[in-house]
Amino acid sequence: MNKLYLVATPIGNLKDLSFRALEVLKEVDLILCEDTRVAKKLLAHYQIKTPILSYHQHSRIKKINYILSLLKMGKNLALISDAGTPGISDPGGKLVSLVKEKTPQVKITPIPGPSAITAAASISGFSMEKFLFLGFPPKKRKRKKFFEEVANSKYPVIFYESPYRIIKTLTQLAFFIPGREIVVCRELTKKFESIYRGKIDEVIREISEDEIKGEFVIVVSGKI
Ligand code: SAM
Repeated sequence: MNKLYLVATPIGNLKDLSFRALEVLKEVDLILCEDTRVAKKLLAHYQIKTPILSYHQHSRIKKINYILSLLKMGKNLALISDAGTPGISDPGGKLVSLVKEKTPQVKITPIPGPSAITAAASISGFSMEKFLFLGFPPKKRKRKKFFEEVANSKYPVIFYESPYRIIKTLTQLAFFIPGREIVVCRELTKKFESIYRGKIDEVIREISEDEIKGEFVIVVSGKI
């Protein structure tokens, strides 16, 4: 039975690739990746010579059909995203759903590893026995509903945000959760990794004083 592997890759530090991930990426017939420039950096670092093909949220039906035809022919494929675990807030989920439907004979196998969610959860210091993950905040419609969901959760909430919107999002969120403890993780595993902890207003002040660059994961403590 041939396989589609969902291979977790580093969220910054290239050393965070598992031995099994390395083995699979070397052995499959083709690696599907989001941005080929990002994938090439990782593959060059590990001298992986496997061919790559881009697969992302804008991939057309022709490309998707080609991928499905390879699986039907018995090829083994690996899917990687730009960072972390494929299928978490990226196009991986859509591919898995299509493969399940169109080529049910293919085994879909995870190769677990880094994810920005688990990395942030692990260092939050909040009780993480249960938590809510909400992906990215909506940019326009339903933003208020998103903030209300964060504010009303009795479990800690994790979400992603880009450097362009982090201050705006935290400032708007502060209105819904004044004085609530949060942890903002920036550039996890990378050279400029920074963890900001404290009440939301203090954290906003601290981040604003730094250079606002990089990638962010936010953990908000649950409603008491
Ligand atoms: N599938 C990925 C995972 O498992 O972490 C997440 C994909 S999502 C499209 C990308 C977002 O994850 C970024 O915008 C950022 O919010 C977060 N992220 C990824 N790498 C990160 C890092 N090194 N530090 C902080 N956040 C990160």
